[in-house]
Amino acid sequence: MDEKKVLVVEKSLENLKKCICMHCKSYTLGCKLKEMPKNMFEIMKHHKNFEEIKHLDGLFCAFGKSECITEEKECICNKCELYKTYCLDKSYYCIK
Ligand code: SF4
Ligand code: SF4
Repeated sequence: MDEKKVLVVEKSLENLKKCICMHCKSYTLGCKLKEMPKNMFEIMKHHKNFEEIKHLDGLFCAFGKSECITEEKECICNKCELYKTYCLDKSYYCIK
């Protein structure tokens, strides 16, 4: 049986829009409110060169761990469109 290769998730606004982390219980309201201003600033600053953003609290499979989320309440990554597109095979990208 062929094993699918995990692909590198592109840091793009298009992918950020597809990320469903905002609907996940692990991304608490407190963390959303705390990280939103920083996220907005980075997105506005780099809207023409999104790849240059070092960290965003979202699209964790591309940007890496959250600077706020610490508790595993659930992970809905496997319901995300990008999970299939990039053949992802893990969960809790925001923490691990
Ligand atoms: S796989 Fe998870 S972290 Fe990656 S975009 Fe989808 S919901 Fe967000
Ligand atoms: S990476 Fe998984 S656990 Fe973390 S916020 Fe996204 S869906 Fe939730």
